[in-house]
Amino acid sequence: MTLDVRERWQQELAQSYTNPLQLAEFLGLSPAWAEQHNAARKLFPMRVPQPFVRLMEKGNEQDPLLLQVMPLISEFEQLPGFTNDPLAEAEHSPVPGLLHKYQSRVLIILRGGCAVNCRYCFRRHFPYEDHQLKRDDWDSIERYLTNHPEINEVILSGGDPLMAKEQHLLEAIQRIERFANIKRLRIHTRLPVVIPSRLTQSLLDVLTSSRLQSVLVLHANHAREVSPELKHQLEKFRQQGVWILNQSVLLKDINDSVEALTALSEALFQAGIQPYYLHQLDAVAGAAHFAVADTEAVRLSAELRKQLPGFLVPTLVREIPGEPNKTPL
Ligand SMILES: *Cc1c(COP(=O)(O)O)cnc(C)c1O
Ligand code: SF4
Repeated sequence: MTLDVRERWQQELAQSYTNPLQLAEFLGLSPAWAEQHNAARKLFPMRVPQPFVRLMEKGNEQDPLLLQVMPLISEFEQLPGFTNDPLAEAEHSPVPGLLHKYQSRVLIILRGGCAVNCRYCFRRHFPYEDHQLKRDDWDSIERYLTNHPEINEVILSGGDPLMAKEQHLLEAIQRIERFANIKRLRIHTRLPVVIPSRLTQSLLDVLTSSRLQSVLVLHANHAREVSPELKHQLEKFRQQGVWILNQSVLLKDINDSVEALTALSEALFQAGIQPYYLHQLDAVAGAAHFAVADTEAVRLSAELRKQLPGFLVPTLVREIPGEPNKTPL
């Protein structure tokens, strides 16, 4: 296994756009427009890797990829019900770094921070930046897994768990696979969508070196995010038996139409990715302008079932704090 010192994805990560004015300039958008929205950076910093920017349409202020990452003044709108911790996650963390909400599976927050800052993210208010699991945290996580034999699946989450380097992932997986009850390792990540080169051979080696079955759950919201590069990079993962799923968030003016959602499912299938969930937005402060009404969400979902084979229709769900699973609408 070769663990390169600095791989291409890390370089691409380092070259991300963090200034809306520079992004606007690259896309041929007016500086005045970018300036008008600039204040929203204070609410949540901007961060967009270049491979994702290259998928955007130049000269289009309403580009569905741009709208997911561009700070907008609408983020200052205060709406009742939109809060800083909509999922009350703090209540479900029995030990630091671990969330146990659903019976058979736990979520381990491997890394804070993401390659991209999505404006609709329910974690936009979390002080994640410095978070990284420490050795002591692992001790208590391992004790928890020992005491909870009903857990058969570990989900690595974040932030984005693929922000971790291979060595760190390998150590985590080796710790987890020692528990005989654990069958599956799931990785929830958006990183390969915004930087496809993250799907390195060494990452694949880490996954295939484990007895655990691995499932990669990507997070793409629009057909154009399923780029030829992503498809290409995924091929060897699929060939080696890694399951690839996708979850999306239903977002106003980004994918809230039958056409957009149908195109997304078709693009996913062409890339060998199974549509899994379509999430209703979590009511996080600053993201109210992305909300789609439940009645509309249900209507869209019913329409998708007419247009697509059942296996390409993602399950429309919402996360309700305190429920033992995600709730289908
Ligand atoms: C979404 C989620 C899971 C996984 O749920 P699935 O329905 O199995 O995909 C597990 N734990 C937490 C805390 C979650 O938010
Ligand atoms: S990658 Fe995921 S966790 Fe990170 S900002 Fe985007 S939606 Fe949030």
